[in-house]
Amino acid sequence: MPREARLTALSESVRACRKCEHLAAFRTQTVFGIGNPQADLMFVGEAPGADEDKQGEPFVGRAGELLTKIINAMGLTRDDVYIANVLKCRPDMPKGAPGNRPPTPLEMQRCLPYLREQIAIIQPRALVALGKTAMAGLTGTDESMSAMRGRWFTFENIPLLATYHPSYLLRNGSNSEKRKVWEDMLLVMEKLGMPVSEKQRGFFRSAS
Ligand code: URA
Repeated sequence: MPREARLTALSESVRACRKCEHLAAFRTQTVFGIGNPQADLMFVGEAPGADEDKQGEPFVGRAGELLTKIINAMGLTRDDVYIANVLKCRPDMPKGAPGNRPPTPLEMQRCLPYLREQIAIIQPRALVALGKTAMAGLTGTDESMSAMRGRWFTFENIPLLATYHPSYLLRNGSNSEKRKVWEDMLLVMEKLGMPVSEKQRGFFRSAS
């Protein structure tokens, strides 16, 4: 079966999932993932937020806008890569409460088989975990992001790199933190054999 059809079938199972009854009751819809089923590069976030829950697509809010800018700076578009989350439902919040909460380890453990299957279908050549929670969901690690970023791990034999979540950069947008994420993206580009221009190499290098 072609990858598109396998992903569609999997998204139907996700849509019907009620493994976490509290999340199924709270969600507007499941947020499966989006992008190129043949992608070499796959980004993995933690869970949909309010915007994603409304629109049914990962990373469409403010953090998503920043992720799109990062993808574009790599010379790619959202259609070139695949974007998904560890959790396919928005973590529930008390009625009327603003913001989002991170997924719990149990919620991620229950949902991980879907992401595992997505990865097996897409067979990306590199995975990027966005944030400590996404990395914890994928690998079970409890390491800090500063200890993990900048070096390669593997997930199911696929090279896996962790970097700061775009929301972290929105909160702490210093040049030095942006540069760290960009250096991680340069590692990804090199791993994938993508050309890196002098201009790209220099992003965020000055004035830290
Ligand atoms: N944060 C995430 O981790 N995933 C999204 O889809 C949106 C925000």
